[in-house]
Amino acid sequence: MIFHSTKNANLKASLEKAVFNSLPPDNGLYMPDYIPKISDEFLADIENKTFKEIAVEITTTLFENEITRTEIESIIDRAYDFEAPVVQITPDDYVLELFHGPSMAFKDFGARFMAAVMSYFLARSKKEIKILVATSGDTGGAVAQGFYKIPGISVTILYPSNKVSEIQEKQLTTLGHNVTAIEVDGTFDDCQKLVKEAFLDKELAEQFNLASANSINIARLIPQSFYFFSAYAQLKRLGKPLVFSVPSGNFGNLSAGLLAYNMGLPVEQFIASTNLNNAVPRYLETGKYEPVASIETISNAMDVGNPSNFVRMVRFFGDDWNLVSEKISGFFFDDEQTRKAMREVFGSTSYVMCPHTAVAYLGLVEYRKKHKSDFTGVFLSTAHPAKFIDLVEETLGKSIEIPERLKSLLEIEKVSVKMKASFLEFKTLLMSKLV
Ligand SMILES: *Cc1c(COP(=O)(O)O)cnc(C)c1O
Repeated sequence: MIFHSTKNANLKASLEKAVFNSLPPDNGLYMPDYIPKISDEFLADIENKTFKEIAVEITTTLFENEITRTEIESIIDRAYDFEAPVVQITPDDYVLELFHGPSMAFKDFGARFMAAVMSYFLARSKKEIKILVATSGDTGGAVAQGFYKIPGISVTILYPSNKVSEIQEKQLTTLGHNVTAIEVDGTFDDCQKLVKEAFLDKELAEQFNLASANSINIARLIPQSFYFFSAYAQLKRLGKPLVFSVPSGNFGNLSAGLLAYNMGLPVEQFIASTNLNNAVPRYLETGKYEPVASIETISNAMDVGNPSNFVRMVRFFGDDWNLVSEKISGFFFDDEQTRKAMREVFGSTSYVMCPHTAVAYLGLVEYRKKHKSDFTGVFLSTAHPAKFIDLVEETLGKSIEIPERLKSLLEIEKVSVKMKASFLEFKTLLMSKLV
């Protein structure tokens, strides 16, 4: 699979290069030159395939010129000891649970695959790399888990101080070994900017083999398409068109849905569900894209003012707003509506949703009000509610159970390096090998 920059179709990269460089030198985003279709034969029988079989088939369809099917099977095997089940919530609506991985958030799907692909390439080239990643909460935990103790790879995670939950922070700051956490006095956008600047810095590039693990990396985007196919496989017997509501921040998840759609997955509609960081729903409404500074909400993993995958998302439609707004509906919700939805769903079904999942649920409800056609709704649950336990318990007025995996974390002491949102400070830390 050959990739090109969204800023220049002639700037090409191999899979290996796109995975390790993350960004093209012109600061665009990598896009596949050509998106192959999954075979009709496979789709016709997909309801009988396991999650891993689906993942292998998609990866082989995309990478067969670079990695053999046998190697791909071993990558998928290493990456996934968890799945993405759908759970029925109302007669026509299902939640796609993406929190059964090691960090209990959907980013495990991308991080585990990327780690497995990178370690496959590194084993051949015998290189060492340094991963830099900015996180608004869940990326860091997933990446830390994905790369933990992988030889030849060190990981530096930047997160905004006091803006991630206690459990999220513990996931970033308690692993040690090849994983270092930097606590930045600033916002997620600040963290993301520092990482972007680091990749453009010549001195750093001379000193390190830097690689990114943010949702801009194509090796994180691709595996997120697996569970859209898996949801289809699980719901195909119902015989109705599928509508996916995706709780969105940087729009990696939704872009992965579009990749699946372009590979031939039958999807009637995508819903871009956001909190008050609503640059994309407003773009879908007006045709004007106006990024703004991020604002804080209770669904904080989606507090992104200028989504990094926006360019990629619209590129799937040839940058034609008419086509984009036909296939994607956008809705946004405030914290009050989000809490109300968490209470309502818990009251009527006993199902506990994290705030991000509640935003996706609301998007689906809103879409249903406007579209009376017969369809199966799927809203994506991007994190386990226990990751936001204080907020969830306070909202529901009830205590919820914490999975063992998270409980044990809370007892370990955090280790982080504190820093201002200053590139100079960041670069100094890196150059002096303190992080
Ligand atoms: C990262 C994240 C999102 C947003 O996903 P994007 O791919 O950035 O749009 C939503 N919910 C949770 C829990 C997340 O961690």
